[in-house]
Amino acid sequence: MGLDRLTFIGIGDSLGVPRVYCECDVCMEAREAGRNQRHHSSVWIEGDDGCFMIDCGPDWTFQMERLGIRFVEHILITHAHYDHIGGLPAWADACRWLERKGHLYCREDIADIIRRQFPWLEGHIVFHSMQERFRFMDWTLRSWRVNHGKNGYSYAFRFDKEAYSWVYCSDSIGLTEPERELFQGVDLLILGTSYYHEEAPYQTRSVYDMVEALEVIRQAMPNRVYFTHMSHDVDVRLLPEYSLPPHVRLAEEMLTIDLCKG
Ligand SMILES: [Zn+2]
Ligand SMILES: [Zn+2]
Repeated sequence: MGLDRLTFIGIGDSLGVPRVYCECDVCMEAREAGRNQRHHSSVWIEGDDGCFMIDCGPDWTFQMERLGIRFVEHILITHAHYDHIGGLPAWADACRWLERKGHLYCREDIADIIRRQFPWLEGHIVFHSMQERFRFMDWTLRSWRVNHGKNGYSYAFRFDKEAYSWVYCSDSIGLTEPERELFQGVDLLILGTSYYHEEAPYQTRSVYDMVEALEVIRQAMPNRVYFTHMSHDVDVRLLPEYSLPPHVRLAEEMLTIDLCKG
């Protein structure tokens, strides 16, 4: 069996870090030293049977350059918020200049929104409608709707191959038990947590904070967890103070992990 590897090519929230208007301590550190610098959330997966990306935000061009790859053929989209689809026009242009087709995979309701926003994409990109259960490369891919708070809904993805399973859920909050069912016992859970502890009223929020996420993890018992989709509230210099359990970590920009047991 070939080895699949996942690279976090972006771990930021919708505004990224630094936020353009902000001079808080974390944003200033991100500008100067860069340990807190975060681009829009996205992952790159390389395997023997192919490579793909999840989400394509407005930092896509930068993320491709940093990865050092010149073309991506397959992109999966979780939901149609700008921080997850803003790079699609650039991808379509790249496909046009290379005279190659891109292949985009998402649920049909998400495809409808993308088509309305960027009606010219389909000249260069083939849209594939994901069913709830979908064969994708060597993976069994399941997608389901998850609550995204005041921002509506998103989709979470679960990938299974042989005995290995992982979930990508970057934008969610307050999930019901059925919405969390497929988190149960996975080898790897990648979960969005915009804040360590967000004080804003619940009805104004759209993504879990770490305090809430730890409770989700306690119940779902995944083997390994990485938090992503982090805002300028999260300061990697304060990591010891967050007292995360050993199997729970903050994702890092350009961190690569193996998608296998152990
Ligand atoms: Zn987002
Ligand atoms: Zn979103």
